[in-house]
Amino acid sequence: MSNTKFPPAFQFSQSSIQDFVECQRRFQLRYLLQQAWPAPIAEPLNDYEAAERLGAQFHLLAQRYYLGVPVQRVEPSMLLWWDAFLQHQPTLPGVERLPEVLTSAVMAGQRITAAFDLLTYASNGEVVIVDWKTSRHRPKREWLDRRWQTILYPLLLVETAEQLIGLEVQPEQVKMLYWFANFPTEPKIFDYSTERYQQDKAKLEEILAQIGSIDQEIWTLTEDRRKCRLCQYRSLCDRGREAGGVEELELDPNVELNESDETFVL
Ligand code: SF4
Repeated sequence: MSNTKFPPAFQFSQSSIQDFVECQRRFQLRYLLQQAWPAPIAEPLNDYEAAERLGAQFHLLAQRYYLGVPVQRVEPSMLLWWDAFLQHQPTLPGVERLPEVLTSAVMAGQRITAAFDLLTYASNGEVVIVDWKTSRHRPKREWLDRRWQTILYPLLLVETAEQLIGLEVQPEQVKMLYWFANFPTEPKIFDYSTERYQQDKAKLEEILAQIGSIDQEIWTLTEDRRKCRLCQYRSLCDRGREAGGVEELELDPNVELNESDETFVL
């Protein structure tokens, strides 16, 4: 029996679980109390918004490309990325290309969702999940490996492949590929395995049980105050007024933090 009261139709995602592991209070404010953001995530705000907009536009172009919709006009600020995309496509299995795929499964009594930028597969069940990244820096492999996106996406794919693509997929047939618009020849590819699948499933169940068992009015604030610099709730938590710089963020629509800045190692 869960102590936690979730909003109606609440679904977990890699972002919400990532928020929880970084700061329980942020998870509570954002997803349970649905608190409006009192402060910008990073400053200057215009730079942050511009970076977000560019990242979103790139995702849209990639989606159109894989849907076979002609891309007639690419704005100048996007040309470098778009040329890189056209010239350095990652090697992918088979011929099936499904952009912007949503999937979800009930695990440990909670609905979990994922949105793949691109799902590619061959008829033998070999699958690659692709995620486009438009960050200025290429994060370290170990950092990416720990992210809940890398944990959750292959896991959910294995759980839902049959309903999603009509194939039963074994963990060993799955790869997660991050493609970086600013480093187009250096994608990061993560193989998957049955062992990793079992470990990650247990880890997910543990986190969900922990979230469901919290019985506090104010959930625990992170001890790592560096995380507060890029958190919209810092004024509510009395964790400072000044926002972190835009360069401290990975500049894509998921707004992930960037470990390659050594002053901000997470
Ligand atoms: S400001 Fe800091 S303590 Fe408050 S929610 Fe954000 S990360 Fe957590």
